[in-house]
Amino acid sequence: AQEIRLASRPKGFPTPENFELAEVEVPTPGDGQLLVRNAVMSVDPYMRGRMNDAKSYVPPFELGEPLDGGAVGEVVASNAEGFAVGDTVLHGLGWREYALLDAAHATKVDPTAAPLGAYLGVLGMPGMTAYAGLVEVAAFKEGDVVFVSGAAGAVGQVAGQIARLKGASRVVGSAGTDTKVEYLVEELGFDAAFNYRNGPVRDQLAKAAPDGIDVYFDNVGGDHLEAALDAFNLYGRAALCGAISVYNDTEPQPGPRNLFLAVGKRLTLRGYLVADHAHLREQFVREVGGWVASGELKYDETITEGGVAKAPEAFLGMLRGENLGKALVTF
Ligand code: NDP
Repeated sequence: AQEIRLASRPKGFPTPENFELAEVEVPTPGDGQLLVRNAVMSVDPYMRGRMNDAKSYVPPFELGEPLDGGAVGEVVASNAEGFAVGDTVLHGLGWREYALLDAAHATKVDPTAAPLGAYLGVLGMPGMTAYAGLVEVAAFKEGDVVFVSGAAGAVGQVAGQIARLKGASRVVGSAGTDTKVEYLVEELGFDAAFNYRNGPVRDQLAKAAPDGIDVYFDNVGGDHLEAALDAFNLYGRAALCGAISVYNDTEPQPGPRNLFLAVGKRLTLRGYLVADHAHLREQFVREVGGWVASGELKYDETITEGGVAKAPEAFLGMLRGENLGKALVTF
């Protein structure tokens, strides 16, 4: 069976040489374990951070060892109570064809209720990140003007649409291509959107949100965050979700040069991790699951076929912005 290992740590933007495809024996489950044949796996921005040898909220990947991350697959052998061959499970051992899991690390999902990839996207970790960030961290309220960066990605698409569905007075998004920008407005119901490559974010945001913003959902950091600080109305709130514009930097960026605006505008800038918001799970499934089922909330997936050997390519493509919605690899 095949797996992808970390061959070397990237300096700056990662390359295919940082990954290595390896052949391994298919393992046999021990007591309380399952063997799962993966069907679909996720490639996510946080994995870039784990390629560095740096202390963070998740441990780094180890050189010469397989990477890991969200995946869904079918149980092909079970030595654990409550799991049978043929069950579909969500778990954390992607980047390999076969995952050997302790039963406690697997969650059964219903393959007839949603396409498998949805459990890694809109109904999974990224969807929950959008929900928790907007509803709880940024304390969204009806009538807010909301700005979402990285708006065409897995988290951003959902965050912007939740804001619309919960009664934002205006939803503005930014993304890295004109096609994505058009898509946000035409298909996902954003009121305005702009391509951050087409001019200074500050100027484009001022035009797109002429009355200022109340909430900023930050996936990007850098100049996007500075622009949001400028655009904020009094008592504005930012959910600091990610900062993908700096993940490949070799030197730290200067902080927002206009941070002092947070004082006079009485802003709340709050970082968070989705894992701390599990108490919202039921509410999330009810609301977002309902909107997905009714078609009021749309979501996209960019699927790379060809199994684990293609995972590095899919991951690098996601970092370059080739994905619309959730970036996935199918086996
Ligand atoms: P996406 O699906 O949004 O994919 C990443 C996107 O980032 C690309 O499609 C690309 O789109 C954009 N991008 C790449 N480089 C840059 C750049 N220099 N400036 C601006 N945009 C860039 O990924 P996710 O939805 O999975 O993640 C979005 C953010 O949420 C990330 O920052 C991630 O780390 C964070 N996150 C945080 C969590 C938490 O618990 N706090 C949990 C999950 C995700 P484009 O074409 O627009 O450039």
